[in-house]
Amino acid sequence: MPVYDYIATDVAHACLYCEKGFETVQRLAEPRMTVCPRCGNPITKCIVAPAIGRSKTKLDDRAKNAGFTKLKKIGTGEYEKMY
Ligand SMILES: [Zn+2]
Repeated sequence: MPVYDYIATDVAHACLYCEKGFETVQRLAEPRMTVCPRCGNPITKCIVAPAIGRSKTKLDDRAKNAGFTKLKKIGTGEYEKMY
């Protein structure tokens, strides 16, 4: 099943969960999410690809500079290496 990346469109009112973005697994047939499941604020789907639309943090910049390392968000604002 595909993994979708969502992030708050209105960061000022976002909760910690959607403020930095989160990943969720959905079936293709399922409608895309439009609001955060935790705070109900609007969210938008990110493109799941390395270094696109994810240059907001220094961690991401570092990952980009490091080459092929991709960091996966684990939902608490922390990161773990995927490969
Ligand atoms: Zn939220």
